Amino acid sequence: MIRLGGLEAGGTKFVCAVGNGATVQQRVSFPTRKPEETLAEALAFFKHHPVQALGIACFGPVDLNPSSPTFGRITATPKPHWQNTDIVQPFAQALGIPVHFDTDVNGAALGEWAWGAGRGLNDVLYLTVGTGIGGGALSGGRPIHGLIHPEMGHIRVPRDPSDCFAGCCPFHGDCLEGLASGAAIHQRWGRAGEKLEDSHPAWRLEARYLALGLVNLVMTLSPQRVILGGGVMRRPPLYTLIRQEFKMLVNDYLQANQLKDLESYIVAPALGENAGVVGAFVLAQQALEAATG
Ligand code: ZN
Repeated sequence: MIRLGGLEAGGTKFVCAVGNGATVQQRVSFPTRKPEETLAEALAFFKHHPVQALGIACFGPVDLNPSSPTFGRITATPKPHWQNTDIVQPFAQALGIPVHFDTDVNGAALGEWAWGAGRGLNDVLYLTVGTGIGGGALSGGRPIHGLIHPEMGHIRVPRDPSDCFAGCCPFHGDCLEGLASGAAIHQRWGRAGEKLEDSHPAWRLEARYLALGLVNLVMTLSPQRVILGGGVMRRPPLYTLIRQEFKMLVNDYLQANQLKDLESYIVAPALGENAGVVGAFVLAQQALEAATG
């Protein structure tokens, strides 16, 4: 069997894996530190576990344009030390194998589309709600890149009249990420989301903001299914609240059979914490196919 490498390069942790399809044979994860030591640790893993191609799903923003001089780099991230870090060349050069990369959320969307909650569909939206918010969308089975790549966490949603939190996005204040990310929950309520009980008013407000964001994205992208992942979503009642708010906001305007059953339209990821590396295997497979024609 072909051994594919998957690297999920997240702002908090790196996950390195070897496998094929949805099968993960080896997997390690370690905290994201400064670029030199973090990339060296990932490189050491793939030297020790040889693979035929590598897919990298990386936190962004990243430059995905192959004709750009900064292709393969992380660009305007607020994460200290990581601006302008080349994430592709160090692996391509040291390992001498085909490498393909995309955003972490496009990677997760690809993984869920190929092997998880988006199987059999063409147009899938994956939104992750963790420390930050990011989204990846597939159109016709291909990740949307366009100008740069979508930055769905930074869309604007109307502020709830009851909410006087200023928002925590360093660029925009009260964009969706600024109002509804894990960091926003923590700052607004003075406690991390995991420490808030299910009955806390934080969750209805959270569901409201996420549903407002989802309505914008669904109206714009027309996905056949929405997959919601990330640490904040590890609270099952939140899915129910989001579906209720979403239904109210759409107000029967969209007439599609899939929307009659929101439990199968707005869903949790099926691959759990492997979505990122399984998506990176899809990227590795594509790199291999491009290299071998
Ligand atoms: Zn923002």
